[in-house]
Amino acid sequence: MPQPLLTLTTRLPNTHRRILLSLLLLSLMILFWPTSSKPEKPLLTLMPVLLSASWAQLEPEHGWQLQVQQWQLVLFPEPEPEVDESLSHYAIQSGDSLSRIFSRHGFSQQQLHQIMAADQSLLALDVLRPGHTLTFQRDEHNELLSMELFIHAGNRVLFQREADGEFSYQELLDEGEWYSQTLVGEIHGSFYLSAQRAGLNDAEIATVSQLFRDRVNFSRDIQAGARFQVVRSDNYVGEEATGQSRIEGIRLFNRRQQLTAFLHDNGQYYDAEGNSLQRAFMRIPLQREFRISSAFNPRRLHPVTRRVSPHNGTDFATPTGTPVLAAADGVVIRVENHPFAGRYIEIQHHGQYKTRYLHLDRALVRNGQRVERGQRIALSGATGRVTGPHLHYELHVNNRPVNPMTANIPLAQPIPDEGRDAFFEKVAFMIRQMDEETLLAQQR
Ligand SMILES: [Zn+2]
Repeated sequence: MPQPLLTLTTRLPNTHRRILLSLLLLSLMILFWPTSSKPEKPLLTLMPVLLSASWAQLEPEHGWQLQVQQWQLVLFPEPEPEVDESLSHYAIQSGDSLSRIFSRHGFSQQQLHQIMAADQSLLALDVLRPGHTLTFQRDEHNELLSMELFIHAGNRVLFQREADGEFSYQELLDEGEWYSQTLVGEIHGSFYLSAQRAGLNDAEIATVSQLFRDRVNFSRDIQAGARFQVVRSDNYVGEEATGQSRIEGIRLFNRRQQLTAFLHDNGQYYDAEGNSLQRAFMRIPLQREFRISSAFNPRRLHPVTRRVSPHNGTDFATPTGTPVLAAADGVVIRVENHPFAGRYIEIQHHGQYKTRYLHLDRALVRNGQRVERGQRIALSGATGRVTGPHLHYELHVNNRPVNPMTANIPLAQPIPDEGRDAFFEKVAFMIRQMDEETLLAQQR
């Protein structure tokens, strides 16, 4: 690359070079010297861009760029953050309960109850895990004014005290970006261990084996040395990984068979020919139809407070003891007790689907268990705050509740015409990525 200034300076005698560069530095300083007495924030953010542009001609090894950056820090220091006495942060430890955290912070059990009431339709506070943080804000009487739950960079929930003393919630979601990587490997011993060695986590391995379950028996039919290729993407908000991941595509070469699965934009998996790999979802997670006693309504008003209190599911008037069925294949990710939602179960399905079953009398599955479509998972009941026995059923797509009675659910049909071409383009692209990565791995 031509570097005229550098070439010029290296040809000059040392003294001249120093003078020339000092002049350059001086003019840069004048150029960026703040015009007002108070350095404005936009200037601070603008400067590194301008600097790097004007210094791009020079080799960074000369260290001047670094020096200018240091001067810049001295000249325009970042303002000291103001300490807000009313705020306190708490990092969740393993085994923590919200009740214990509240009493340690001097908040009343009544306020805990109000927060739990606000969380009834979200159920975000039931699964506090190490890595999550809580930020509390107090009022002048040391009582809770607001609480923010930080789950990951793309998911925060803000609970705020309203004028009537009750809490409202606001979910702050940021979809962020997905970055993919290709993982390849061979199966020696169990598929589970081989996939784990290649870098897949438990949920991803469960997805793969459930997607191919009807086509291959992983414990019996896999030949030693069978190859697999996986495109997995990880979610980032800014620079921060949110810990969410998903399988975009997989190919498995076993004996003379090639198994494929690719994730479409509609959240469902199809093979490379566009055939559905998912069994149809059940529209209603019950053996027969029951009267709908309350419909899905994201803008329902609370009868007393008149505040928006969304009804994120469909209520079926089931008498206590009615068998509740898993709407589709998946893994149980929660079996919890909540003062308002009662005993409830959450299932993670393939792609971007989740289902919840509330106010249960009894759960018949445990956390982490794999379940099949139509499997009995619970008996309905009237636990939590209810006016009578019923099943409250929720369907979430991409972490957002949708109307379970009208939403597009996997129907085990070939890929729809809409988005079909884009799907096959994506598949071709992923297959190239997979083959390249396999070649690279073989050369290592
Ligand atoms: Zn309900």
